[in-house]
Amino acid sequence: MEKEKILQIQNKLIARFPDAHCELDFKTPYQLLVATILSAQCTDVRVNKVTDELFRVADTPEAILALGEDTLREYIKTCGLGNSKAKNIISMSRDLVEKYNSEVPNDHAKLKALAGVGQKTANVVMSNAFDYPAFAVDTHVQRVSNRIGIAKSENVTGTEKQLMAAFDKNIWTRMHHTLIFHGRNICHARKPDCENCPIEDLCEKNGMK
Ligand code: SF4
Repeated sequence: MEKEKILQIQNKLIARFPDAHCELDFKTPYQLLVATILSAQCTDVRVNKVTDELFRVADTPEAILALGEDTLREYIKTCGLGNSKAKNIISMSRDLVEKYNSEVPNDHAKLKALAGVGQKTANVVMSNAFDYPAFAVDTHVQRVSNRIGIAKSENVTGTEKQLMAAFDKNIWTRMHHTLIFHGRNICHARKPDCENCPIEDLCEKNGMK
């Protein structure tokens, strides 16, 4: 897609969703890391309910380790995948204590080496906790950007590279949130609301009947 068209899409979506932001509640990088791990296959609303309870009793690596895997699993089980998420959060917290003085590293590669942390989670933490430019591709960003035609890739790695090339670096984090808001509110997975879409005239509607 031509740069000029992408710029129009950017401006129209930002005008429609000027307040697009991270919807996970967090006060520290560690809280965001835990919340993002919990958000796999779970809504942000559910994660916020769970972390509201969990962080009252434990919101540092040491406190989570003291809580233990079994108790942690009880707190987080309504997010789904309770067994693997509890294991990963315990393992990740142990690594933070042993290798990073209980701090979340401000380093993409180090984040990705932690249990339960993939490319998307590392990008979310780098951009939202450390203001580092990154373009996290979740299910909404993957679907919406390919439908519109800003990206053309069946996998998130390809989509991430194409989105980073399409948009200026200083707007990656903002566009990540904007595309998520667009996907949640207008360009729904099953029934996109094209009639009320601000970029209807610019969208390629790829993969749609
Ligand atoms: S026109 Fe339809 S498919 Fe295209 S971005 Fe808007 S809602 Fe999504």
